[in-house]
Amino acid sequence: MIILGVESSCDETAISLVRDGHEVLANAISSQIKDHAAYGGVVPELAAREHLNNVRPTLNQALAQADLELEDIDGIAVTAQPGLLPALLVGAAFANGLALSLGKKVCGINHLAAHIYGGLIERQDILTKPEAFPLCALLISGGNTQLFIIKKSGDCELVGSTIDDAAGEAFDKAAKILGLPYPGGPIIDRLAKTGNPEKYKFPRSFLPKTRSYSEENKLNFSFSGVKTSLLNLVKKTWKDGHVPDEDLPDLLASYQDSIVDVLSTKMKMAAESYGARTLLLCGGVACNSAIRERVQKMAIRSGKELILTPPKYCTDNAAMIAGLGYHYLKNPEHVSDFVEASGRAPIIENLPVFT
Ligand code: ATP
Ligand code: MG
Ligand code: FE
Repeated sequence: MIILGVESSCDETAISLVRDGHEVLANAISSQIKDHAAYGGVVPELAAREHLNNVRPTLNQALAQADLELEDIDGIAVTAQPGLLPALLVGAAFANGLALSLGKKVCGINHLAAHIYGGLIERQDILTKPEAFPLCALLISGGNTQLFIIKKSGDCELVGSTIDDAAGEAFDKAAKILGLPYPGGPIIDRLAKTGNPEKYKFPRSFLPKTRSYSEENKLNFSFSGVKTSLLNLVKKTWKDGHVPDEDLPDLLASYQDSIVDVLSTKMKMAAESYGARTLLLCGGVACNSAIRERVQKMAIRSGKELILTPPKYCTDNAAMIAGLGYHYLKNPEHVSDFVEASGRAPIIENLPVFT
């Protein structure tokens, strides 16, 4: 089955063609980063307008990449929730219209479940291996930070999440404070490489042995404090609020280290609490070289299998949508003729049963 995936939940217009949930025939992405950079973040109405401009050219690009015609596809999967509603509406309307005109089935996909699936596109062996479960997935993206335990195929439980900012926001807001371009993650990752992570001290919220820790927030996260702490440090240390270039690597390495420390420690705690056999790191922040390295070390030490999502499937893409869509569309009960978009989504409780 060849599924056409459509993603428009934020500032990437993405179209993919994926065969049988894993063979990625095309993965076209049109990013709007330049359009939103001046605002230091994504403007929903601007995003919607750009999706409208870009969706058809991106589809053409995907069809050309795969050397396929629209008639060759068997179904359409589209991000239905959660995300920026004006942006989601464009993708859903496009997918619905396409499905109607082609006489194909369509299904709505939860964007966060798709981020998890991003790690499984090239690891289909895991799906049918009962001994790989429970699987502990840490989703770290621009708008979410969530810990899931997937006990078995078809059964997913949210065991922790952020109570305020997402990990990606901690990067993006730090960049804004420091006058660095949006999105902050990639540039902070690069600049931090040459810095000393022990130069500055940043809080590690909700970690055991810190004042903020409690049993109740054992597997939860809070990243608004670390951002405020950066703002205060900058104001106190550099009088005009401008951090000189030579001080950025140490400052960013220390800041990044506090985020990485919290993320990897919580993932380890969740994996231990639930006896997870496999770890999966996904979402845009999973591109970060420091978190990848830290989680890799942790996995080796604890003897767990680790799935590090390939960077191209970490940030928003439609291969993860089409891939997960395949597992829904092959099951008639999930298929619909019309997908409704919604900005918010219920907590994910199940992924399809992968067979
Ligand atoms: P969500 O999936 O929660 O709706 P989103 O789709 O906007 O949010 P993604 O596309 O998954 O998020 O990821 C974008 C985020 O990833 C941004 O916050 C960006 O700064 C961050 N990011 C990308 N690359 C890196 C990196 N190398 N290091 C840290 N963060 C990164
Ligand atoms: Mg994005
Ligand atoms: Fe995303």
